[in-house]
Amino acid sequence: MRNLRVNGERLWASLMELAQIGATPKGGVCRLAASDLDGAARRLFIRWCEEAGCSVRIDAIGNIFAHRPGRDASLPPVMTGSHLDTQPTGGKFDGAYGVMAGLELVRTLNDFAYETEAPIEIVGWTNEEGSRFSPAMVGSGVFAGVFDLAEGLARPDNVTGVTLGAELERIGFAGPESVGGRPVAAYFEAHIEQGPILEAAQKPIGVVTGAQGQRWYEITVTGQEAHAGPTPMPRRRDALVGAARMIDAVNRIGNAHAPHACTTVGFVQVSPNSRNTIPGRVFFTVDFRHPEDAVLSAMDGELRQACRDAAAPIGLEVEVKEFWYFPSTPFDPDLVAAVRDAAEAQGYPHQDIISGAGHDAVYLARVAPTAMVFVPCVGGISHNEIEDAKPEDLTAGCNVLLNALLERAAVSSTGEIRAEART
Ligand SMILES: [Zn+2]
Repeated sequence: MRNLRVNGERLWASLMELAQIGATPKGGVCRLAASDLDGAARRLFIRWCEEAGCSVRIDAIGNIFAHRPGRDASLPPVMTGSHLDTQPTGGKFDGAYGVMAGLELVRTLNDFAYETEAPIEIVGWTNEEGSRFSPAMVGSGVFAGVFDLAEGLARPDNVTGVTLGAELERIGFAGPESVGGRPVAAYFEAHIEQGPILEAAQKPIGVVTGAQGQRWYEITVTGQEAHAGPTPMPRRRDALVGAARMIDAVNRIGNAHAPHACTTVGFVQVSPNSRNTIPGRVFFTVDFRHPEDAVLSAMDGELRQACRDAAAPIGLEVEVKEFWYFPSTPFDPDLVAAVRDAAEAQGYPHQDIISGAGHDAVYLARVAPTAMVFVPCVGGISHNEIEDAKPEDLTAGCNVLLNALLERAAVSSTGEIRAEART
């Protein structure tokens, strides 16, 4: 029984009801991780899951797992979900969509009395946004063994210093289950694209083939401060002139590795930042992204060379410090194919796409076969109260999620495909 269809109106209604928890005057949502509002959203989600016949468990980092049994309890679950926390000026769909799509998928299976071989679990990961407690993706990161539990619980609120662990305790979500360390048959995550590509291409479905790698740098250029009037041009060691040439090189490196490279300088400090003093020191950051690690490595070499080339003629010193490295994550080819096939089978225009942002799926990919489904968001805008998505696209993404996931959940312990409706 292929091509089950979800109830798009029910999905939309749940998203809109959830968005009232932390609703902002501009139509967005502010629901910071482990806040009272996060607690309220979690309790609503759990109530809906229990009404849909799921049993709910909470682990020690507050991740929520709603379990729908399969025929074979010995099989590891097929998981789908995302996160319920938002940015301070977040939207209704980032994260919430993936969780509500998981819920809608289970409700649809109930409507059709559809049994699967493997159990299905809807998951809500703790603190994906990393806005109140950095870094991002802490719940999925502890689950996947990227951080240890104590490290995750000790993350401080970036304003008050209160820990994530204390706040989870306070809102009643420091659960009894141990975190991770159990097999997951597959993980699927539906998410808004948070970029402009699908909307521009007029495709409702993005088949996410992986997430790009990132390298972040901190660069310090040192010259010599001097008076802007009496110092002749040939004698200057102007750190800002050198930095400007390096920043231009960052942009050229991005263009040289089109179309997938993204290179950004987003933060610059000039010292002493005085209009009649030649700058003696410049500090700036570089953000490099590319889906292939080999290309990221090549870009790394080009950056270091460009910095040396810009510094030498002006007599500057330059220090290039790698601040953070996040390897590229290719998703599981079989699961990616299942997403593509589901879109194809239902007649939805689709295209392959690489995630420019981090998601819980990126950490899950370290411990389970993983894939994602993207749907367009209006104007490509996210992390903003005006974030919006079309109901028909959200429905399309949920239909693709359902049918891709069913392909996995239908596999019996002997590898044969057995799931079918009881009715
Ligand atoms: Zn998200």
